Amino acid sequence: MSGNIKRVGFLISATGGGHKAAANAIAAGLEHHYPGRFKFDYIDLFREYTPPPWRYAPEIYPRWVHYNVASYSAFFWSSERLLRTPLGRDATLAHIARRRIARLMEDHHPDLLVVLHGAFTRFAVAARAALGASIPIITVVTDLAKPHLGWYHPGVDRCLVPCEPAYHRGIAAGVPPEKLRIVGHPAHPKFALYSDTKPDARRRLGWDKDLPTVLLVGGGEGMGRIADTATAIDRARLGAHLVVVCGRNEALRTRLSARQWREPTDVYGFVDNMEVMMRAADVLITKAGPGTIAEAAISGLPMILNGAIPLQESPNIGFVVHNRAGVYAKRPERIVVVLQQWLGDEAVRSQYVAGAEKIAYPNAAFTIADEIAAHATTPQPLRAG
Ligand code: UDP
Repeated sequence: MSGNIKRVGFLISATGGGHKAAANAIAAGLEHHYPGRFKFDYIDLFREYTPPPWRYAPEIYPRWVHYNVASYSAFFWSSERLLRTPLGRDATLAHIARRRIARLMEDHHPDLLVVLHGAFTRFAVAARAALGASIPIITVVTDLAKPHLGWYHPGVDRCLVPCEPAYHRGIAAGVPPEKLRIVGHPAHPKFALYSDTKPDARRRLGWDKDLPTVLLVGGGEGMGRIADTATAIDRARLGAHLVVVCGRNEALRTRLSARQWREPTDVYGFVDNMEVMMRAADVLITKAGPGTIAEAAISGLPMILNGAIPLQESPNIGFVVHNRAGVYAKRPERIVVVLQQWLGDEAVRSQYVAGAEKIAYPNAAFTIADEIAAHATTPQPLRAG
């Protein structure tokens, strides 16, 4: 291996798919701008370097959110409060983190750490100080409008945030302005690079080329009121094509696939061509997940947000609504009313298309790649764009 190749350690967690997806997006951005110049390690910090019960966070998180979201949100809230107490401060953390991060460094020998989980920033900074190491640390915040305070620490080299509210929260949390930069959510570059027109995308998917198309999703796990919403839309006879993406929720996919629909309806499980589906659709119905919102914005797809994890995702609703990239409608009957308005009047829908485009950061993964390259002191990019 050439001495020029730098090792990027992504500090991720398999608690939901978003942290790994962000790492994949950044890796693709680096590979596009600096082919062959970086090597990537996906380091699941909870799984590999923490004791129980943290080690089981990937198993606990989806069940917790699914079965008792109120207590998860209470935990989310109290973990922010904890950061303001002596127990949450760096001295304690450094003590805990030192041995484990030392092992991580030995295992992976990263040239640079990219923090992609709000629980890990302090852990990484404290451990670096305790070890006397000089490795650069870049935090890439993957929450959207009101990221957890744990994301922010003045000791990182760079803190890259998705939008203005996240920037101001960083300032309030004490991150020096010169370390903060708004770059957008790290959506995969395939959304920005996908060049098919809407008719071409529909042809590729085998979808009706003339019917208005509604895309209904619930994050990677197929969460939220998908079945109720699909049923209400079907009953309303909107004259539209409904596409339901159930993600990894196999039970939901099986149930909805077996149903007789009155209107043209397609049901999918987990798909890996979301950029094509978003280009082909006219309206998106989704929970307020940061990844899906960012991808829809890049695709110029207006959104109906029908739910959110309280505190973690709910501030994203205000962000989308404020920017007129979409509306909030939780109840299926209300969603049907919005669809009637948007599909019945192109001028109304276009206003929300413009709002979606306004909050889009199509180059986020490339900008983040350039930041990493600059901090890893790697030579100039081989390609532009
Ligand atoms: N996703 C996907 N295929 C699916 C369903 C979802 O690739 O069948 C992707 C979606 O494009 C987005 C991510 O899963 O990148 C969902 O992220 P989000 O932050 O919206 O919600 P989460 O699943 O993390 O709660």
